[in-house]
Amino acid sequence: MNFRSFLLTIFLFSSGILNFGFNSTYYSAEAKQEVYYNTKSHIYHNLGCRWAKACTVNCILIDKADAIQRGRACKVCGG
Ligand SMILES: [Zn+2]
Repeated sequence: MNFRSFLLTIFLFSSGILNFGFNSTYYSAEAKQEVYYNTKSHIYHNLGCRWAKACTVNCILIDKADAIQRGRACKVCGG
């Protein structure tokens, strides 16, 4: 192994670790985000939305990723 390929190996190795760390942090933060999902209208709201607070019968707390699959975002709060 010459010096140049040694540096390239170090670079690829370290950048791979940095990318992995960044991505795993990003995805776990996304997965933890929860929204109120209206099972009747199929619209989801962020937790601070006034419509979410008004919706006490049909709304359930689910992961945002699930809500995106099952319905659409509220036009007031953006989901
Ligand atoms: Zn909303």
